[in-house]
Amino acid sequence: MPRGKYIIITGGVLSGLGKGITTSSIGLLLKMQGYAVTAIKIDPYLNCDAGTMNPFQHGEVFVLEDGGEVDLDLGNYERFLDINLSSDNNITTGRVYRTVIEKERRGDYLGKTVQIVPHVTDEIREWVKRVTAESSADICLVEIGGTVGDIESMPFLEAMRQLHQESPDDVIFLHTTLIPVLGVVGEQKTKPTQHSVKELRAIGIDPDIIIGRAEEPLEQKTREKIALFCDVPVDGVISAPDVSCIYEVPLLLDEQGLTDFILQRFGFRRRDGLYKWEEFVGGIKDTAEQVTMGIVGKYTALSDSYISIEEAFSHAGAALGVKVCIDWIEAEDLEEGTVSLDHLHGILVPGGFGMRGADGKMAAIRHAREKGIPFLGICFGFQLAVVEYARHVLGLDANSIEIDPETPHPVITILPEQEDVEDMGGTMRLGAYPIAVKDGTLAHRLYGTSTIRERHRHRYEVNPEYMPRLEEAGLVFSGVSADPPRMEIAEIPGHLFFIASQFHPEFTSRPLRPAPLFYGFVQAAREKKSQCSE
Ligand code: GLN
Repeated sequence: MPRGKYIIITGGVLSGLGKGITTSSIGLLLKMQGYAVTAIKIDPYLNCDAGTMNPFQHGEVFVLEDGGEVDLDLGNYERFLDINLSSDNNITTGRVYRTVIEKERRGDYLGKTVQIVPHVTDEIREWVKRVTAESSADICLVEIGGTVGDIESMPFLEAMRQLHQESPDDVIFLHTTLIPVLGVVGEQKTKPTQHSVKELRAIGIDPDIIIGRAEEPLEQKTREKIALFCDVPVDGVISAPDVSCIYEVPLLLDEQGLTDFILQRFGFRRRDGLYKWEEFVGGIKDTAEQVTMGIVGKYTALSDSYISIEEAFSHAGAALGVKVCIDWIEAEDLEEGTVSLDHLHGILVPGGFGMRGADGKMAAIRHAREKGIPFLGICFGFQLAVVEYARHVLGLDANSIEIDPETPHPVITILPEQEDVEDMGGTMRLGAYPIAVKDGTLAHRLYGTSTIRERHRHRYEVNPEYMPRLEEAGLVFSGVSADPPRMEIAEIPGHLFFIASQFHPEFTSRPLRPAPLFYGFVQAAREKKSQCSE
């Protein structure tokens, strides 16, 4: 097997330039050439994982098969590359230091003074190499979060410099920057890029490729100037203009010769075209039909908190030739009755925590159930759908103990093994578990199989004591996981489409393999729309 190759992606000028999408896109391009690709996200913060971070501040917490709670960029990697990653693909400062300190306590450093260079940097370098080898990747993409010049990212950059020094032909540095345009003259300015490259070079890293983000494509003049001042070949200066759909980015990068540039650097050959992907992007962009889906949530001001749901909608939409428009609905506005749901072809209640907005979410669920509007509930949305059913169909004064610990009818209760855990990082049921799907149900029709695996992130679950009563009243638990038995999917037969899952189907949706629940949901919304217009 050839040695692993590495592409190190850094960011300059400012954050939020879409480094994650660039990284994912490059991965896709190389994978489509037949190479095995993996990707690592380095987050230079001290948290050990993203599980304890507020989605308001940081965007969605993505959950991996192994239960790792990671940065949302890993979601993009999984979607673009259509692979499953592990927790080790997300390195944080907290995790590296924890490992080094544990080694020091064990006496592994044989009495030496433990230092950032070489001990921390060695740990990082070994980690990157280990993940690459374990995943048998030909190419590993390493995205370094933050902006060059931040104190936090220094040890990581130094480690990557060492990796290059160790084996210069196997490492490419790619720097993403912003090319601002000055209003009056409309000129693309390269100075901020020059400065951030200077910063990189001061730490011993010479970029091979520069990707310039700007609203419009870079002018030839701009590319030449960057090439000259930053000492990269002109064909290594690539434009990343604004696009309406993130899945277009790989096509744009490929058109400019980026794939060929990388392959040539690594001594690899070009093998294939990109038609499947082109077809998929066409499916998203050239759709005449449109449905409107409402997402009733709590963090709707920051849509990054539901990024996997948005993507799952676009995958399902592309497969069905339907454009899915999302209407973000703040659950608390529903409680005050200031918004209407009448224009929606489908209602989704996503995952969430805590009591704020719960009544609004339940009002939306009741509306969908009673008015025959397609409904998909995810995690908290599933739990609230069960509470709503117990309240308005069974007539119980029911609740989840997360919302009211004193409720007389705790239809949603705490998972037994989660009761006395103290470490906030580890109190949830996380990751993928197998689920048995009952024959003859909507869930079975959608998945087309009797055993599925889906990812979880929750503390509470359906109280098994209430299951017989709920089922007698017409709610069907069509998916159950074993040991102990846990309710995983609930549905209402006879409703156009009413289904909810304790797991998160959005985490496993892929561009060319939409999640079955989303596929069925969009299909039902299309049907609802055609019924309305009849
Ligand atoms: N708050 C609920 C629980 O902990 C749901 C979690 C979620 O939606 N991710 O079980």
